[in-house]
Amino acid sequence: MTTFADKSAETSSAAGYIALDERWSTHNYHPLPVVIAEAEGAWVTDVQGERYLDFLSGYSALNFGHRHPDLVRAATEQLGRVTLTSRAFHHDQLGSFCRELAELTGTEMVLPMNSGAEAVESALKVARKWAYRVKGVAENQAQIVVAGSNFHGRTTTIVSFSTDDEARADFGPFTPGFVVVPYGDAAALAEAITENTAAVLLEPIQGEAGVIVPPDGYLAEARRLCDEANTLLIADEIQSGLARTGTIFALDHERITADLYTLGKALGGGIMPVSAVVGRADVLGVLRPGEHGSTFGGNPLACAVGRAVIRLLSTGEFQQRSTALGAHLHERLSELVGNGVSAVRGRGLWAGVDLAEDGLTGREASEALMKRGVLCKETHGHTLRLAPPLVIEERELDRGVDALAEVVGMR
Ligand SMILES: *Cc1c(COP(=O)(O)O)cnc(C)c1O
Repeated sequence: MTTFADKSAETSSAAGYIALDERWSTHNYHPLPVVIAEAEGAWVTDVQGERYLDFLSGYSALNFGHRHPDLVRAATEQLGRVTLTSRAFHHDQLGSFCRELAELTGTEMVLPMNSGAEAVESALKVARKWAYRVKGVAENQAQIVVAGSNFHGRTTTIVSFSTDDEARADFGPFTPGFVVVPYGDAAALAEAITENTAAVLLEPIQGEAGVIVPPDGYLAEARRLCDEANTLLIADEIQSGLARTGTIFALDHERITADLYTLGKALGGGIMPVSAVVGRADVLGVLRPGEHGSTFGGNPLACAVGRAVIRLLSTGEFQQRSTALGAHLHERLSELVGNGVSAVRGRGLWAGVDLAEDGLTGREASEALMKRGVLCKETHGHTLRLAPPLVIEERELDRGVDALAEVVGMR
């Protein structure tokens, strides 16, 4: 038996916390060796009192920074009222949340869920039902076309159409009904769509794959192909949406709309898991009582936080910050190309930075950045994904890029 004193000794240092995680938590992540105890805005503080700039923002769940006062206030107020009713009863936050989210996004109806993966699952179910009941696809024949290198979450159905071996291996048998085509290849997409295609599911910018921006015109062509074939276009905007690229949807840059959008991450303000499918009422309207749901989906606390997120987004301030700071970030990053960096991509305050093949690995660069007080994470070996919170100041952004310049100059 360990005594209380032993236990506190175990957890008094970063190493102690890390050892505790290693012993008791499953090993499905490989975190950087930093143990965060507090955070505010663009900054986090570790258990030893060291401060770091957060250049990851919980993969865009923290677009408004840590503990934005408006979001904390909304959550605190709702904690004092009611947090959960289940959908067996109505509550006074759901309708307003759905209306405000639909108005913000220019859509007609909202299906609230919790995690991003649940929103994607929900969109897939709705698309299948729409295909059978509205489009007239024969029973169990519906297909959904997706892109290679996609990331849509971790459920067994979603990993069924992943092209990442790590995400799939040993998790079969897989859900049928998905067709994978290379991302950015409009001709391949055209060929894959048949009369049985219920939907095309795409990330307007592929986040997890390394902030991959598709070729000009690709998304508009996807929209045209879907219209031509009476097929739904589903945009997964869980990471790209809600001001990350300077607009509510990354798709807005292409001046096209999707039939359904999945939202998550920033919708919960970094406080709650809040996700949703938003889109056409004639599509989402196919769901009837008993066919889909979630105990926590659309709960009062989630709706109250979501409504505060929507209020922040309705001013346009964060979209403007992303555009202006993003231009600055990309200008600064472009100076690194040829100096330890082979390519930079992205839009708004979001960048994928490919490290030179003969330089540091993504992991080594992330660790070196951590030692310089900047937190970010590699994706796929040689790429760093930068997604600072949209509340970051320009001088803080410069501080992060300066640290990166130093790190990529290392061997
Ligand atoms: C993160 C993410 C998801 C999954 O969201 P979870 O909340 O982790 O389930 C789905 N799609 C995209 C594009 C994402 O970035």
